[in-house]
Amino acid sequence: MQCADSAGAVLRIDLDALTENYRALQRQVAPASVAAVVKADGYGIGAELVAQTLLKANCRHFFVAQLGEAIALKPALPADVPLFVLNGLQPGAEAQCAAIGATPVLNSLDQIERWSALAHRMGQPLPAALQVDSGMARLGLPPEEVAVLADQPERLAGIDVRLIMSHLACGDELDSAFNAQQTANFEALTRHFPDVPRSLDNSGGSFLPRGHFDIVRTGIALYGGVAQTGARPLRAVVALEARIVQVRTIAAGAGVGYGLTHKCERESRIATIPVGYADGWPRHLSNSGSVFIAGIRVPIAGRVSMDSITLDVTHVPAELIYPGAAVELIGPHQTIDDVATDAGTISYEILTQLGRRYRRELVVAERVDQKRSIMA
Ligand SMILES: *Cc1c(COP(=O)(O)O)cnc(C)c1O
Repeated sequence: MQCADSAGAVLRIDLDALTENYRALQRQVAPASVAAVVKADGYGIGAELVAQTLLKANCRHFFVAQLGEAIALKPALPADVPLFVLNGLQPGAEAQCAAIGATPVLNSLDQIERWSALAHRMGQPLPAALQVDSGMARLGLPPEEVAVLADQPERLAGIDVRLIMSHLACGDELDSAFNAQQTANFEALTRHFPDVPRSLDNSGGSFLPRGHFDIVRTGIALYGGVAQTGARPLRAVVALEARIVQVRTIAAGAGVGYGLTHKCERESRIATIPVGYADGWPRHLSNSGSVFIAGIRVPIAGRVSMDSITLDVTHVPAELIYPGAAVELIGPHQTIDDVATDAGTISYEILTQLGRRYRRELVVAERVDQKRSIMA
C-alpha cells in the first residue's frame, strides 16, 4: 500500500491475455510458427517481460528493430533462440552484432558484403535473415539486387541464411489488392532461395485468407490491438486506471485549464486526474477524448497538461466523484484502439508511448503482482 498512491496511475498488464493471444494466433496461422515482435520495449509493455512470458508458451523466434534493443534483450533469451534485428546493420556495427549472437536482417548488398567479410575475418559462419522488398519501398533488397544475389551466390559466403522475409504495406486492409500482388512478388523473389524458411506476414497479414509461409511476425495482435481495420482485437493486455486527486465546482462562464479552452456553460464539477501527456496520454485529446467513471463516459474538459487532465463530471452521480475514486482510461469501456481513434492515431502509438511513471502491475491467473513503482 505504501506505493499504491505514489504513482499517478496504475498500468495493469495481463500476462494470461498475452499468452492466450499468442496461442490464438498460433492456431490461426498453423502450420506456420508465430514469432513475437518485441521492438520498442515490447510495444511499451516490456520486452523482457513479454519474451519471458511467451517463451513459456513455446515462442521460439523474437524480433527487435535495433541492435541496441538486441543488446538489452539477448541475455534474457536462451542462447539457441534467435533474436532478429529488423533494421539491419549500420556500418561499423557488425562486430557488436556478432559478439552478442544476434541475427541481423540484411537489407542490402552492402550489408551482406560487410556481414560476409566479418564471417571471413572470424573464420566462422554467421547467421542472418535476408529481407527483400516486395513492394513497400522501406527496407530490403530491391528486385534488381535480389537478381544480382541469385547470379552471384558467392556474395553470401560465410553467411548462414536462416530466414528470408519481406513486409506488407497494406496487411491491415483485408480488401487491398496489393496484398495479393506483394504475396506474388514475394513468391517470385524467394524462388531463388528454395531451402530457406520464409516470413511475410505481420499481425494484419496473419488474418489474410491464404497460407502464411513459415513464420509470421506478430506485434500488435499479441498486445491486444486491432490487426485488421474494422475487426475485433484479441484479448486486451493493458488496462490503465487513475484516481481522482481533486474535485471542484466552478461557476458558469468560467474557463478550465491552459488557455481556458473549455468554457463551462453552466455551473460544473471538474475532477482532476494525475495523468498527462508526459505519461503518453495524447495532448491531441484536449477537449475531445473521454474516460470512464463507474462505466459512465466522462469528457476531457480543457487541454491535457503535462501531468494532469481535467474532466467534466457534472453529469456523474456525486457519490461516485471523490478524491481517490477510480477512473478508467483504458479498460473494458475503452480500448487502446478507441483512444487511438479519438486521438487521430493508431493503437501502436498509444502503446509505445505509455508512460514510465505508471505503477505497473502484472496480472497472472487473476493474481496481481506489483512489479515496480516509480517512487518505491
Ligand atoms: C513492427 C513489424 C512487425 C510487427 O507488426 P505488427 O503489425 O505489430 O504485427 C513485423 N514485421 C516488421 C518488419 C515490422 O517492422
